[in-house]
Amino acid sequence: MTEHAVVIAGGGPTGLMLAGELALAGVDAAIVERRASQDLARSGAGGLHSRTIEVLDQRGIADRFLAEGQAMQIQSFARIPLDISDFPTRHTYGLALWQNHTERILADWVSELGVPIAREREVTGFARDETGVDVELSDGQSLRAEYLVGCDGGRSLIRRAAGIEFPGWDPSVSSLIAEVEMSEEPELGIRHDDNGTQALRRLEDGKRVGVVVSARYTGQTGQPTLGDLSQALVAVWGTDYGVHSPTWISRFTDMTRQAASYREGRVLLAGDAAHVHYPVGGQGLNIGVQDAVNLGWKLAQVVHGTSPESLLETYHAERHPVAARVLQNTMAATALTRSDARLDALRDILSELLTMGEPRKRLAGMMAGLDIHYDLGEGHLLLGRRMPDLDLVTADGPLRVFTLLHDARPVLLDLGDPGGLDITPWADRVQLINAKHVGSWELPVVGAVPAPTAVLIRPDGHVAWVGDHTHAGLPDALTTWFGPPTAG
Ligand SMILES: Cc1cc2nc3c(=O)[nH]c(=O)nc-3n(C[C@H](O)[C@H](O)[C@H](O)COP(=O)(O)OP(=O)(O)OC[C@H]3O[C@@H](n4cnc5c(N)ncnc54)[C@H](O)[C@@H]3O)c2cc1C
Repeated sequence: MTEHAVVIAGGGPTGLMLAGELALAGVDAAIVERRASQDLARSGAGGLHSRTIEVLDQRGIADRFLAEGQAMQIQSFARIPLDISDFPTRHTYGLALWQNHTERILADWVSELGVPIAREREVTGFARDETGVDVELSDGQSLRAEYLVGCDGGRSLIRRAAGIEFPGWDPSVSSLIAEVEMSEEPELGIRHDDNGTQALRRLEDGKRVGVVVSARYTGQTGQPTLGDLSQALVAVWGTDYGVHSPTWISRFTDMTRQAASYREGRVLLAGDAAHVHYPVGGQGLNIGVQDAVNLGWKLAQVVHGTSPESLLETYHAERHPVAARVLQNTMAATALTRSDARLDALRDILSELLTMGEPRKRLAGMMAGLDIHYDLGEGHLLLGRRMPDLDLVTADGPLRVFTLLHDARPVLLDLGDPGGLDITPWADRVQLINAKHVGSWELPVVGAVPAPTAVLIRPDGHVAWVGDHTHAGLPDALTTWFGPPTAG
């Protein structure tokens, strides 16, 4: 039986990102993926939000995505645009980039890092014991792993087989999404009616049409047919425009659910396997990739024996509230995809509020993922928040903070006089960097914060400790996040 430290079920955006994170940390990980290639039958996510671009920047791969997409103000809430061009980040925009490109670029990165992907195979089940998991595959083979991570999407087999509950809300909207040809010239554009979003757009080839047509959910299930699509088009536009030759037709709903637990012993969940919601606001892929970045380094440390298994509890504790908030904002925004006199009045009021600086910043910061604050206790405003990508001056020359995170290792950044901090017992795990920063410290949504003397930065870019040369609280923070000191 082939053995790996970690088996990842599903090589979508979440599984790929996790594989990359584990490979950077030197963990033997493998992906099992049902699809024969990274090609997507559907168009999927339309872009990356600012924090996701930052996270990719932390690994030195953001340029690959930026080169292929279009940087623009893509943030919105309930169709109300939210401009982030004044936010304190290098990426004051989102990136319009279809999911098939995002996945291809991630897959290339993962392949450079040498992670094997077993394609055209499914995980069909697993059996756990005290030391690991036997992962059963559809070709009759098994893999042995210390940990199994379900990145296998909204219908996750791993979640169901692990017996993890998936509470939430049943659908209220059902949308058909398709790429088709039409023999008559359609009325292109987006409209909103009392059923939600209705959209027709010309695709890149200039020939086919992308369709989204929404209706109240009345129990629609199963693979939709061309007949279903024709009926739905007639219901909205009064004609099906001679629809024919679909490349694909699919259905999505606003079913809104979240895994009650992101971990059940040696089995973990990430991405859509842990949370599903209507795609309004475009956050699903983004938070899946960020789940992976939160989990990767923690799982790596547990696999290497550097940290106790209890470190994995912080994965659920930190990421469950992030997705819960996304579920909440998508439910609100889904209601506002509908249009009638009362909902339009509500949207008008919201629109007016969002012209004001503070409400816009709050909502935009949340939608862009720039305001995430893990609860690491009382302290400096930086604690638990994302470390800004400051320009630093070091003895070796100028450097950006994110450059220090490229290999996914923790950093203790000492901005005081050199030699003021000693972390010898953790020196095998934590980089100590002495540097200077000239300028202010500003966080998205929060605003200006006092300049600290030193910050401990986790591999996911979140701040684990803020302090000075007294070392107060530093040994505890190092032990909590990066394991006990090395004796010596
Ligand atoms: C119409 C639409 C528009 C969207 N727009 C956006 C957007 O603009 N922005 C955004 O952020 N999100 C958007 N989303 C959501 C986004 O597509 C998902 O959140 C994202 O794909 C989740 O990534 P994932 O890797 O967690 O899961 P998935 O992408 O579902 O990947 C799961 C992978 O696991 C594989 N798999 C499944 N079961 C098994 C098994 N048993 N064994 C092996 N492999 C398996 C699948 O083949 C798949 O490759 C949209 C979704 C839809 C439907």
